[in-house]
Amino acid sequence: MDSLQGKVALAHVHTLVAAAMALTTLTTVSSSAAEFGPLNPFFAPSPLPFHAPPFDRIKDADYQPAIEAGMAQQAAEMRRIAENSAAPTFENTFVAMEKSGGLLARAMSAFRGVSEANTNPALQSAKAALAPQTAAHEDSIYLNKKLFERIASVYDRRAALRLDPEARRLVEVTYREFVHAGARLSDADQAQLKILNAEAATLSNEFSAKLLAATVAGAYSAQDRSALDGLGEPQLAAAALAAKTRGTAGYVLPLQNTTQQPVLDSLSVRATRQTVFENSWRRAELGDANDTRAVIVRLAQLRAQRAKLLGFENHAAWKLEDQMAKTPQAALAFMEALTPAATAKASGEAADIQAAIDAQNGGFQLAAWDWNFYRNQVRNTRYGVNEAETKPYFEINNVLENGVFYAAGRLYGIRFQERKDIPVYQPDVRVFEVIDADGKPLALFYCDYFKRDNKDGGAWMSAFVRPSRLLGDLAVIYNVANLPKPAAGEPALISFTDVTTMFHEFGHALHGMFANTRYPTLSGTTPARDFVEFPSQFNEHWAIYPAVFEHYARHYQTGAVMPAAMAEKMKAAKNFNEGYDLTEVLAAAELDMAWHLLPAGAPPPDPDAFEKQALSKSHLDISAVPPRYRSSYFSHIWDSGYSAGYYAYLWTQMLDDDAYQWFDDHGGLSRANGDRFRRMILARGNTEDLAAMYEAWRGKPPTIDAMMKYRGLAP
Ligand SMILES: [Zn+2]
Repeated sequence: MDSLQGKVALAHVHTLVAAAMALTTLTTVSSSAAEFGPLNPFFAPSPLPFHAPPFDRIKDADYQPAIEAGMAQQAAEMRRIAENSAAPTFENTFVAMEKSGGLLARAMSAFRGVSEANTNPALQSAKAALAPQTAAHEDSIYLNKKLFERIASVYDRRAALRLDPEARRLVEVTYREFVHAGARLSDADQAQLKILNAEAATLSNEFSAKLLAATVAGAYSAQDRSALDGLGEPQLAAAALAAKTRGTAGYVLPLQNTTQQPVLDSLSVRATRQTVFENSWRRAELGDANDTRAVIVRLAQLRAQRAKLLGFENHAAWKLEDQMAKTPQAALAFMEALTPAATAKASGEAADIQAAIDAQNGGFQLAAWDWNFYRNQVRNTRYGVNEAETKPYFEINNVLENGVFYAAGRLYGIRFQERKDIPVYQPDVRVFEVIDADGKPLALFYCDYFKRDNKDGGAWMSAFVRPSRLLGDLAVIYNVANLPKPAAGEPALISFTDVTTMFHEFGHALHGMFANTRYPTLSGTTPARDFVEFPSQFNEHWAIYPAVFEHYARHYQTGAVMPAAMAEKMKAAKNFNEGYDLTEVLAAAELDMAWHLLPAGAPPPDPDAFEKQALSKSHLDISAVPPRYRSSYFSHIWDSGYSAGYYAYLWTQMLDDDAYQWFDDHGGLSRANGDRFRRMILARGNTEDLAAMYEAWRGKPPTIDAMMKYRGLAP
């Protein structure tokens, strides 16, 4: 059940700067702000339904001036709040802040959407130019002493003010964010912090640009079709198309962001597999312009220095303070509890695979690049299913409408209507209006599923508009993925892994569109990382739920339901390879923690030696089971807000299995169960302490028992 390539756009920064991204180089606000005027499509709120971004009118050159003007506008709004002569109140401070930054939010959210999913040199250069400005803008808010004094004044009197629970939560969350960002530091320390923030933002952007180039350059090319033996006709056609798109002859197999590559499932020539794997493993360590190692070492050092300045032992301690786990020690202890069962299961899987190799007189030791190829053979022998047989039952549009949407309809009573009149940023993008159970419009949902060379790797969800009752906004949400695009006229037949990714990202989308909060800061997917992957992973369970599965798993030509025997085998195979899947994630999560437990002033480590040592220390140094991401291409932790947070994928697996256990105990898929979950979890955003919110719904704290059971790890 592999859905960990995903990321969700986290509002780990305050909504004031909700659209702020880890961007980059120091320049002052350019004169382009002066050019901003009524002709710019961001000048006024979008006139389209749901305030959808007017992509038919937006040109690449419109973003930067709109964002710069948006930052200037919000800075002025913040100055007015900070310098208000009236005594600080909840209304004139917190509500005023929540209402600020309208222009910035609409320009930045559209910009983030296109620059991650459909970038080009103009957008990349705007992104580089905006990065330091965005960091400086955030600092100008978080480090504004007068503003913080007003926040602290209301915070100190919060008990006496008789605020409603959501308002009180807003006061507490905002206060903590300001303190977390350095609001209580001396002027000298704040000046130092600003320098560190700016350099960190620049380095993150540098990492991201290098990695994109490294990943494109790491593609495997072949002139000779025989090197690609084992690939099916659709994969070969896609490889030929990829070559054509790049203006070369022959075949190109583009790299995905993970260590293992989907084509390694099928390639039967061992030398090709090894080359593809090594291209992936070494993509950002070739000593060329795309080598990221110096960048990540410097970034880890900077983060440690910043943590020290803010009064923490290391970056991880600083990052986890406001998470559900609360300390790195708690996260590490959780991982240590899982590691023995995971690696024991992986060793058993390795033995089965070696036996398959030996039975064919392979004459070699299992290596990482052999795992998926022989794993499939073991699975086929044991469960008699392979993807070539199952894919015809997973046509992408059918999966979306009769699977993903259908499950949400059964649980929450929502309906979907395609809107061809809403402009999109790329012709493959589809838009649906989501209609609530009471017949009222709820949200717009965009999906952009096919891989492109100008798209970031993986899959993610974010919002063009975040819903809030204060601003009267409904949600405009999108899902992006990198599923293989079929040749023209061919159906998009996807793997069950890809099906799961669609359910996963749509779980985030539900969390975003059901948000029923007054204040944007507390809306939707704003909670902690170790909570935010819970609704998405929980939603994956419905992909295999019988009433849902039978509804969408139908042959794309005949409409026949997947034969029961095949479906049974596929379901029985669910926990197959779980040892590998869990171990590769544990290994990546341990690497993430190791980098972010470094104390300030530690000598810069050699990345490769450091990586080896971290894996060995946590008993996860298994050469056939490499980490899901290597440090040098671990974009989650260097440029996506998951630093010291990758463990959250496993923590939230504990939550999602524990939650599914509740559904299982209460009759499974039903409107009553769905509505209760929506009301008590999905609609609540960050309006309550997350552990308390979970326990109120579940009736008890989460445990790893259901996770061990559902993943076949229980003894
Ligand atoms: Zn996710």
